[in-house]
Amino acid sequence: MLTRSEIRSYLTATGPAQEELFAEARRLREEYFGPTVILRGVIEITNVCRVNCDYCPMRRDNTPENDRYFMSSDDIVERARDIREAGIDIVLLQGGETPRNLATMEDAIPRIRELFDGRVEILLNLGNLRRSQYERLRDLGATSYILKHETSDPDLHKAIRHESLDERLRCFRDLLDLGYRVGTGLISSLPGQSLESIVDDIELAQSLGAHMCSVAPFVPAPNTPLQLEPAGSNELALNTIAVLRLHRPQMLIPSVSALEKTSAGGQSRGLEAGANVMTVNFTGDSDQHRYLIYGKDRYVVRKRHVEDLTRASGLRLRGSVFLDPDASSDVPVGAGGRKRVS
Ligand code: SF4
Repeated sequence: MLTRSEIRSYLTATGPAQEELFAEARRLREEYFGPTVILRGVIEITNVCRVNCDYCPMRRDNTPENDRYFMSSDDIVERARDIREAGIDIVLLQGGETPRNLATMEDAIPRIRELFDGRVEILLNLGNLRRSQYERLRDLGATSYILKHETSDPDLHKAIRHESLDERLRCFRDLLDLGYRVGTGLISSLPGQSLESIVDDIELAQSLGAHMCSVAPFVPAPNTPLQLEPAGSNELALNTIAVLRLHRPQMLIPSVSALEKTSAGGQSRGLEAGANVMTVNFTGDSDQHRYLIYGKDRYVVRKRHVEDLTRASGLRLRGSVFLDPDASSDVPVGAGGRKRVS
């Protein structure tokens, strides 16, 4: 583990110091995971949300003007079939925070498990819920959950998300306690965020015992209160990825689409900085344009893009590490058929 002053100094590394930092992050990724990138498929099930995050075009105040959608469980299962056909064994179901998700999950999760003969990681990203609801989702077959803390500064969290950080962390701890593999995440370069606060974010991911942590540079999305703020620095986000790899090497760290949106080639740099997860979008075309995570012109990740980046980085794609930690579960690059996991 790194000291606070080491973290601080790595976060601002440039030139040869940054290259050394990235090289060490890649070495640790190799030591813990081999030359592999974990591949997920995401389905974005709704763009409706009760929360009002100032950086998000799907925030509650925007809902009346947005073209709302809720995927049916039949549609979700059909998209999950596409994920299976692509040889991917992690189905990420993600959406705004709305009570309607629970009824949809009741039907969809067991059917997805059946579709994969039970050999699937069902990863949810559906926000804050009551402990009993997390318990129900687990009993239905969900295995992992993403609940990003976004910023560990309680005042900034409250000011920008209009929600309590404590409540978010209560949910995170409930999930861990219920046996989920849990991911957190942060936004770097948020307006009003200090470097010291990012040091806190990294220490929080460690102290929570997170299995996964994402880093996304701030994107000033249209139709949000923060639309006129400057875009976040990709270099700071990349340094944060590398520092996380050094600080907690066993963690899954995605190279997120926001890196590509902020700068072409950004996701490739994420892999250079030690990231080891990529997510392909399987939401249907019409809903994809309505899921406004960074506005209408977000970067939508396709499997070919991921295959090209992974190959160019000298890495290979693999399946879930949570299903079979010891099994080799490489995903066939460029293949359409379902991967048989031994
Ligand atoms: S970032 Fe997530 S929780 Fe916040 S408004 Fe957007 S969809 Fe809702």
